[in-house]
Amino acid sequence: MMTKIIDLLSELMGITTPEQWGELLSSKEHSLPIKNHRASILAKRICIFAWLFAILVPAWSLIDYLLLPYELWFQLAILRFISGFVFLGIAIACNKRSCPLNKIFISLTLLLYVPTFFYLIANPILADTHFAGLAGALVNIYSLLPFLVIAALTVFALTITELLIITLPLIVITIWSLYPESSADISNSFMFIWLFLLLIGTSFFSSISQMRYMISQVTRASFDTLTQAMTRRAGIESLELYTRMAQLQNNHLSLLFIDLDHFKSLNDDYGHDAGDNALKGAVAALKNYIRKGDSVIRWGGEEFLILLPHADQGDARRVISRIFEQGLGQRPEGKLLTASMGLSELIDDNIDSWKALVELADQRMYHAKESGRARCVGSDMQILGQAEPET
Ligand code: GH3
Ligand code: MG
Ligand code: MG
Repeated sequence: MMTKIIDLLSELMGITTPEQWGELLSSKEHSLPIKNHRASILAKRICIFAWLFAILVPAWSLIDYLLLPYELWFQLAILRFISGFVFLGIAIACNKRSCPLNKIFISLTLLLYVPTFFYLIANPILADTHFAGLAGALVNIYSLLPFLVIAALTVFALTITELLIITLPLIVITIWSLYPESSADISNSFMFIWLFLLLIGTSFFSSISQMRYMISQVTRASFDTLTQAMTRRAGIESLELYTRMAQLQNNHLSLLFIDLDHFKSLNDDYGHDAGDNALKGAVAALKNYIRKGDSVIRWGGEEFLILLPHADQGDARRVISRIFEQGLGQRPEGKLLTASMGLSELIDDNIDSWKALVELADQRMYHAKESGRARCVGSDMQILGQAEPET
């Protein structure tokens, strides 16, 4: 039964591998382009909602004033203005150029919980009085707030874990508040609880589907289909982001420029498919030599960058040693596939932009080519690593 449900959901969302379920379950394994893209979309949407609420929630006081008794209006107006200020704070916090994901989740949680607390406080205030006509309709709108909050989830791309963490307390609070107080309330209460659960199901499905769609779109645009290295465009975004972060926090950032040696002759002698296989093998090998937060970027045909955030020259040298010790695979004739490399580092090379970081590593790679290939050149044209000559 359970496997049938999972199969059906997989088909509905176009999921074919367990890893894809993993990406929907938690954001731990999300690649940097996915994290960046989602952070910017979530921040924009939270910001729009927060601005809208920051204006509309206090402005609604005018309608309360026309329809409700003065004392009730006054209590609700205080609540409305406090909520309006919180929404304004969220809007300002999310309006930054690059807002980190943890700050975004705090903002989203606040965005969803302010209306819920508003409902929890307003409900008992309004419950004591019976309203007719337009005022009755207005009071009914208040009781729908938790439903609106859950419906709002449909516009945010979230993982299953995030949805559960953010909404579980909200669901418990709402169901508890809808629970029948007397036997006369039973049918009404259960109808509302049932409707609320249905809405949770559809909102969760919509939010998770958005997550899935975003992952597939960003992956397609950010990773090269042949090698699965990051594309140049996505690579530039990462370079910009990490250079800015390293400069702000005065952290190290190392970059390796890698150009495969005599690659044209491999293509000419053994065909383009053999060349493609060699490229795939080289990237797969490079990915084994780096840490989780590092990236392999396909900069050009057979040119790659390895971006190593928080890595000083010592850390970069360890990656270089692994490349020379374990290699990049073999050429079709059986010889080792080698590369010439250049290393640059933000602090030690006194660099002020990602472009300068790439240019310097490129110049050093060029020097490695000129001085015999199959080696890595660092600052002061020092040779940091070299492939063993083949016998
Ligand atoms: P050097 O050691 O000086 O770098 O020599 P090279 O032959 O590697 O240098 P060059 O830049 O002249 O050649 C790069 C070659 O890479 C040319 C092109 O045919 C090949 N190449 C680029 N992209 C691809 C690709 O996607 N697939 C294949 N099979 N070959 C590619
Ligand atoms: Mg080249
Ligand atoms: Mg080359």
